[in-house]
Amino acid sequence: MKIAIVGAGAMGSRFGYMLHEAGNEVLLIDAWKEHVDIINKEGLTVEENGAFNKVKIPAMLPEDAIEAPDLIILFTKSMGLESMLKSIKNILGKHTKVLCLLNGLGHNETVEKYVDRKNILMGVTLWTAGLAGPGHVVLTGDGSLEVQNIDPNMEVETKEICNILSQAGLKAHYSEDVIFSTWRKACVNGTLNSCCTILDCNIKEFGELKEAPQLIRNIIKEFADIAAKYGVELNVEEVAKVVEGVYDPSQAGAHYPSMHQDLIQNHRLTEIDYINGYVSRKGKEFNINTQYNDLCTAIVHAKEQLLIK
Ligand code: NAD
Repeated sequence: MKIAIVGAGAMGSRFGYMLHEAGNEVLLIDAWKEHVDIINKEGLTVEENGAFNKVKIPAMLPEDAIEAPDLIILFTKSMGLESMLKSIKNILGKHTKVLCLLNGLGHNETVEKYVDRKNILMGVTLWTAGLAGPGHVVLTGDGSLEVQNIDPNMEVETKEICNILSQAGLKAHYSEDVIFSTWRKACVNGTLNSCCTILDCNIKEFGELKEAPQLIRNIIKEFADIAAKYGVELNVEEVAKVVEGVYDPSQAGAHYPSMHQDLIQNHRLTEIDYINGYVSRKGKEFNINTQYNDLCTAIVHAKEQLLIK
């Protein structure tokens, strides 16, 4: 299958690499020129469990891509999604399926501005990856993903794509309710990412704080109030237990969430506007109190100003 990975950072490189190794014709598309140039010149360096592998996968800047693939996998950061969709208009073919795997809320609305509903697939993934530098991806841990079509008539085609992904070892499952899963994952990110970033601590340290149980429930309650407006029912206690399951060091407890890595460690902008910030914006729109998410969003934005010069 011809597959373009659009946004070939850490996660895009992981998915591109695994799909390439399974025999698909993969193209990595990214706006970071240095990254694209190194991949084309030296190959993509894939680091896993201390072993290094150089893999020849073609890479391109968005404006240079001209051929519509069978499948596009979107893996930009949330704030880069819309400009990336604008810049790849040429390769959005009539039959090109577009799978959006970004973290955060509201991406389906953005994708729908550029892609026919019948071609849109939404997904949630538990895979992880990091970048050690341009052209160098570090693969960690195991994962899986769930995928579902937006147009109810496209179930058969979506299941075929799940098969292609699974043949590459990505463990893709057809989801019966991907929008629910997206909201639940956003609650995990909306509690752990923002709180660990604001408090400058890892997940285990956050979980040990005496304030943590009430704080996460207050944040999740506001997510649930907004989700209900979209017909999504989130049980606050159930979701809080999912978040608390992550405190275990054998899960992700010893890690710093990606927002902490972006802002505190690398001084890069965060996805806060698509997590807590989405709830905060929708709260204003629906006249619902979202004071905890308002505060998280404001503090992370303030920290961005302090750290990104
Ligand atoms: P990433 O930051 O690695 O890549 C995103 C974009 O940023 C790419 O276009 C990349 O080229 C660019 N970029 C990265 N480092 C750069 C640098 N130093 N200079 C210039 N440009 C740079 O993002 P990611 O971690 O792959 O995340 C993509 C999406 O997947 C996000 O929505 C994220 O929340 C989600 N996600 C990430 C993980 C993870 O483990 N990384 C897991 C699940 C979901």
